Amino acid sequence: MRKKIVAGNWKMNKTAQEAFVLATEVAELVKSSVSADVQVIMSTPALYLTGVNQVIEGIPNLAVAAQNCHEKASGAYTGEISAPMLASAGVQYVILGHSERRQYFAETNEQLAAKTDAALANGLTPLFCCGESLETREGADFLGHVTQQLTESLFHLSAEEFSKVVIAYEPIWAIGTGLTASSDQAQEMHAYLRAHIAKKYGQSVADSISILYGGSCNAKNAKELFACPDVDGGLIGGASLVAADFITIATSY
Ligand code: PEP
Repeated sequence: MRKKIVAGNWKMNKTAQEAFVLATEVAELVKSSVSADVQVIMSTPALYLTGVNQVIEGIPNLAVAAQNCHEKASGAYTGEISAPMLASAGVQYVILGHSERRQYFAETNEQLAAKTDAALANGLTPLFCCGESLETREGADFLGHVTQQLTESLFHLSAEEFSKVVIAYEPIWAIGTGLTASSDQAQEMHAYLRAHIAKKYGQSVADSISILYGGSCNAKNAKELFACPDVDGGLIGGASLVAADFITIATSY
């Protein structure tokens, strides 16, 4: 059975006080309403990771994620945070390759391969994001574009390493736009990615990898998306900023 995961990406939102309130609300709701077999994750701004970790202490199916990490372990990289730093602060997950990082910070597939290595070497679980722009979806081989992101950033890993990665398919045209991929579009891509993984690592590894959908997933559409056989959960932006909505999504299986 694949792990069901609902991960909230807070991006650059919330003051420290607001973050504490949101994390506390989410923690209470996870305890009272979310099934133990659903892993809930809050990807907070790095500044809040340790504080939020204290708020959620003792809740087995609730964890924090960083939104990025540097590929080097340490050094003169002002403003950056490394994987060993995250691990030493009790962080378990890290989002890598979000389209906003690719777009605004020019992250490449090659650099993301190095970041993935750094994350895995330090015991962090990468939530690896992939997805196509609207232009690519309309004009080119969008399935090939997304599988190439996986191939170039992840397929150097051994099967054992790859098995530790969580994939998040996030069509860029659906992120923060209110446009959601239809359940058919999501299922098509997720099944294609799983088949691509199977070709490289075999069917049992492919069947064990959680593939999340992200892109305007919300309290209303999560049920339909999560009902797709190859959609194992969601990476949630805007709707993760309101505890009740986020938890409705986490209870949409
Ligand atoms: C995201 O940024 O990962 C995301 C899915 O955002 P939203 O849910 O707001 O589209």
